Amino acid sequence: MAIQILPPQLANQIAAGEVVERPASVLKELVENCVDAGATKIEIDIERGGSKSMVIRDNGKGIPQQELALALARHATSKVASLEDLESILSFGFRGEALASISSVSRLTLSSRTADASEAWQAYAEGREMAVQVQPTAHPVGTTVEVVDLFFNTPARRRFLRADKTEFTHIEEQLRRIALAQDEVHFSLRHNGKLVRQYRPARNERQKHQRLASICGSAFAERAFSLRCSNDELAMTGFLALDDDRARVSDVQYFYVNGRVVRDKLVNHAVRQALEEAGLSWAAGYVLYLTLDPHEVDVNVHPAKHEVRFHQARYVHDFIQTALQQALAQRPVPEDGASEP
Ligand code: ADP
Ligand code: MG
Repeated sequence: MAIQILPPQLANQIAAGEVVERPASVLKELVENCVDAGATKIEIDIERGGSKSMVIRDNGKGIPQQELALALARHATSKVASLEDLESILSFGFRGEALASISSVSRLTLSSRTADASEAWQAYAEGREMAVQVQPTAHPVGTTVEVVDLFFNTPARRRFLRADKTEFTHIEEQLRRIALAQDEVHFSLRHNGKLVRQYRPARNERQKHQRLASICGSAFAERAFSLRCSNDELAMTGFLALDDDRARVSDVQYFYVNGRVVRDKLVNHAVRQALEEAGLSWAAGYVLYLTLDPHEVDVNVHPAKHEVRFHQARYVHDFIQTALQQALAQRPVPEDGASEP
């Protein structure tokens, strides 16, 4: 075969292979877009584990009519314009790839209205052709994305979908990860018409604790003690909890870097070291938020952005370990005395 440029539809489907693994990955991309748009309320409606439909509604800033079709195009983003922007990125999105990818493997409708527009507009894209239709619609300020028949045109992917219940479990987990870093945002999640999760905005400590319990479970929240540590370059806050003979809470492990959840060996290692130093043989659960200058961390390592690279990895590791050690040393003694390892 001679060298040729891929047709846009095929290029998007290939890119979709990287970011759109299953309904939960669609949810991640769409909900992150709502957060990037400054939404304070995000409503999610899932049918049949996401394989039939996923509707994500937000009250964010909306998309102007003339940008609706562009939002669905590949490499179209309002979040970065230069390499400097990329190096100091704080938004979730920056690749301009998600909507293009998702619309190439589903029937996608994007409805939106901005605060200064008198009308709402809707763009529709159906897998096959990348031509986008834009027409007037009714919608309050904000955006709704509706994804129907995910993978209808990529049968190999469609077959790979698991039972509705399994896919929905992944969706719930994905939402948990996002919600834990967005205390001020109201989330609701429905499955097949039934309200399954509701995370209310938390502004004070008491509400934050309630929210932690509703997201991570009461066993974790009851045992959690807070941590706060900072120097000129790094700051870490969050919660730590230890397993005991009544409950295992060490399955709750979330680590955020500048609001983005990451999986990182460095973090696991620092946690283990801190527990060892404290002479504890029990495992720990944690929800930790590390913030640092975005120039000090590279988030553009993985298409789904699960991995990050710290420029000063050793320094970050030691900071995390020390912060955990201090928190462990000052942890409140369990009231009943029985659960102390
Ligand atoms: P990225 O998030 O990497 O920019 P996406 O394909 O996810 O790429 O989205 C493309 C663009 O569409 C975004 O940059 C943003 O301008 C717009 N957009 C997508 N979703 C929303 C939303 N819920 N509210 C407002 N704008 C949105
Ligand atoms: Mg995005």
